[in-house]
Parts: sequence; C-alpha cells; structure tokens
Amino acid sequence: MTANRLGRRRYRREADLIVIGGGLQGCATALFAVRRGLSVIVLEKDSVGRHASGVNAGGVRRLGRDPAEIGLSDRAMALWRIIAEIVDDDCGFKTLPHVKVAETDAELETLVERAATLRGMGYEHEQVVGRSALRRLLPAVADHCVGGLTSLDGYAIPWTTTAAFRRKAEAEGVLFREGTAVSSVASDGAAWCVTAGGAIFRAARILNCAGAWGGQIAAMVGDHIPIKAIAPMMIVTQRLPPFCDAVVGTVGQPLSFKQMPNGTVLIGGARLGHADAEAGSADLRFDELRRSAKTAIAVFPIMRGATIQRCWSGIEGRTPDRLPVIGRSPRSEGVFHAFGFSAHGFQLGPAVGEIMTELIANGSTQTSIHAFEPARFECVANGPGDH
Ligand SMILES: Cc1cc2nc3c(=O)[nH]c(=O)nc-3n(C[C@H](O)[C@H](O)[C@H](O)COP(=O)(O)OP(=O)(O)OC[C@H]3O[C@@H](n4cnc5c(N)ncnc54)[C@H](O)[C@@H]3O)c2cc1C
Repeated sequence: MTANRLGRRRYRREADLIVIGGGLQGCATALFAVRRGLSVIVLEKDSVGRHASGVNAGGVRRLGRDPAEIGLSDRAMALWRIIAEIVDDDCGFKTLPHVKVAETDAELETLVERAATLRGMGYEHEQVVGRSALRRLLPAVADHCVGGLTSLDGYAIPWTTTAAFRRKAEAEGVLFREGTAVSSVASDGAAWCVTAGGAIFRAARILNCAGAWGGQIAAMVGDHIPIKAIAPMMIVTQRLPPFCDAVVGTVGQPLSFKQMPNGTVLIGGARLGHADAEAGSADLRFDELRRSAKTAIAVFPIMRGATIQRCWSGIEGRTPDRLPVIGRSPRSEGVFHAFGFSAHGFQLGPAVGEIMTELIANGSTQTSIHAFEPARFECVANGPGDH
C-alpha cells in the first residue's frame, strides 16, 4: 500500500457505521457489516482484545445457558463449527463435551429437571448422565460425584479469536483506531458525531460494544442501562499428565475447569476479584482464588499436588438479570447496543456479529433477541440496579 493510500485510510472519519469497542462483539460485527457492504470504523480506547475478549476462559458453551439465550447460542455454535472459513484461522476451536457435575443426589435431581424443561422447549442438546457414564466422560472425577449434565460444545483461544476477526475485518476494509477513547456522542441532525481521541467521527449508525463501559456510552445517547463492572478470575497450573478431555463445571460451586492439550489446567468460574472500570484494571482476590482451587481439588483429587503457574483477571459488564443488552436504543434512532454479556459472551460473539449486522442493515433479525432488549431496564432506570 502506498503512503498516500495509507494516509487516506488513517484519516478517514466518516462511515456508514461506527463501532465503539474493539472486543469480540465489536470486531465480529465490523467483519459481518463490511461484508454486507457497509463502511465501518471501530474506535477502541485501549487496544483490540485488551479486555474481556482477550483474557477470558475460552469456553464455547451452550450447556446451562438461560433458556432465553439458547437460540442465540445455537446460532453461535453453528458459526464456531465453520470459524476457519469465516476468519481464515481456526481460532484454536475444538469440539468437546462440557459437563456440569452433580456432587449430591439433590443436585442431580435439579439437572434432571433442567433437561426435562429444555426438552419441553424443544432443545435436546443437554443430556443427563449417571454415575458410570460420568466416569466414562471424566475418569479422574472424585468418588462422591453422582452424575452430571453434558452437551457437546467446545473451547477456543480468546486472544487468537478476537485478533482473527480484527485481522479479517481490517483486510476487508474496516478502519480500526486504537488508543481512541470515545468521550461524547451527539447528533448534528444528519448524523451521529462521535468525539474520540481529539477528532470527530461521523456516521448515521452507531453500535455500542463497549463491554463493562457500555453503560457510559449508552448514557451519552440518553439510555439508562444499569451495568456493573465485575472481575472474573482465572488460574493456570503447571503441566499435569493428561486426565481430562472435557470442560467441567459443578452445580453447587462456581467452577469452570479444563485441561489444555499441553497439560496445563485452566480454572475459572464465577469467583470475582475487584474491578475498577475507571482505571481499567481488575485485581485478584486471593481468598476467592483459594476457594476455586479447593473446588477443583474436591472434584478432581489429582489436582491436589498441582502448582499454580499464573493467575489473572479481566473486566466484564454484568447486567442485573445476567442477560446481555442487544438491540436498538430505546431513545436514539440509529444507535444500537451489544454489551453486558455478564461473563458468558465469548461463545455468543460470532452470532452477535451477524445479528447486529442484520439489525443495522435490514432493520430486523430472525434470531429472537426480545429478552435482551435495551428497553427492558427503562422502568428501573432510577432504581438501585445491580451495584
Ligand atoms: C476472566 C474471564 C473469563 C471468561 N470466560 C468466558 C468463557 O469461558 N466463555 C464465555 O462465553 N465468556 C467468558 N467470559 C466473558 C467474555 O469474555 C465476554 O462476555 C466477552 O468477551 C465480551 O465481549 P465485548 O466485546 O462485549 O467486551 P470487551 O472485550 O470488554 O470489549 C469492549 C471494548 O470496548 C472498549 N471501550 C470501552 N469504552 C470505550 C470508549 N469510551 N471508547 C472506545 N472504546 C471503549 C474497551 O476498551 C474494550 O476493549 C469471560 C470473561 C472474563 C473476564
């Protein structure tokens, strides 16, 4: 590319669509939107994939989702299976079982009920397994575990995935501006004017994919969407001999557990550190990490001698009902939101990209997103929220 052409791209300030936030949701939408013929600029305050999308556990999970999310999650799974065709990179995606382990008969009963409820809704992907089938899936599971719920899902490498979507989108004409924090959004009557990094960008349509900061961007266009910054934490151990070929959770304790092909074990779950969205930092809480480690040892006694290699945490946005905010702004024409994925949005990313593109380009989408309407919080706009 000549210096002249590079210069023109660097200084482009107008597009059909401005995406605020270069996480997986923003990068996936940018790619599908440019393929739909829209010109797109992505504005990212830090660097692409710097926050939740680059540091998460990589669980590509349908198991255990809120029923409202299953249609969206199924659509995402279909895209994960062809991810290499979409972004020219396999994103480290592997299909393998996810298993939710019951440690007591009462827990197993809740899983049986859950599977029956889903079957009643027409979903067959979650299957109950008893004691011996659980051991076939997880030979190293502790003796006291009585069964579980399983579905054939998978995992991928988060950073690789987000970078692949960005790389492909950029190659197809999307302009990414990193280190470019959006500080205001205002209408000039004809278009939205987005002030970021000392410049003004204009577009008829804006998509807010700002993750834990999505509430701040929403407020700039008059939408009040309660969102709390949370800091899920991860542990990675030194290598162990292969003993687990599934992604494992438990009913009674927050746990997400998988052994990587190199033998290291990745332990996460819903245990949280301290998130400071203002500073953009997430700190570890060692008492909570200790609890995660204890749960892992209780379910897999082989973990007792494992050595922790590294721990980290990332910032994510959580809504009061733990469902994402996906859809059009209740107040501002041409503004769309896709944020607040409440610690389970990595799997949904590719489908969110397609759905937001359909909404923005066509005005509707065939996947049901009713439960995610940004307007659902309107009546509690002045309430205490989830803080
Ligand atoms: C430790 C951890 C483990 C997780 N594990 C899983 C898992 O196993 N499976 C799963 O499905 N999900 C998981 N998640 C959740 C998943 O990572 C997120 O739901 C998903 O990545 C959210 O993507 P996003 O694009 O909405 O947000 P982000 O990746 O946070 O992207 C938002 C971007 O917006 C930018 N931004 C914010 N404000 C502005 C502004 N004013 N101007 C410009 N840019 C701005 C930010 O800098 C950020 O880069 C996990 C999350 C964490 C933290």
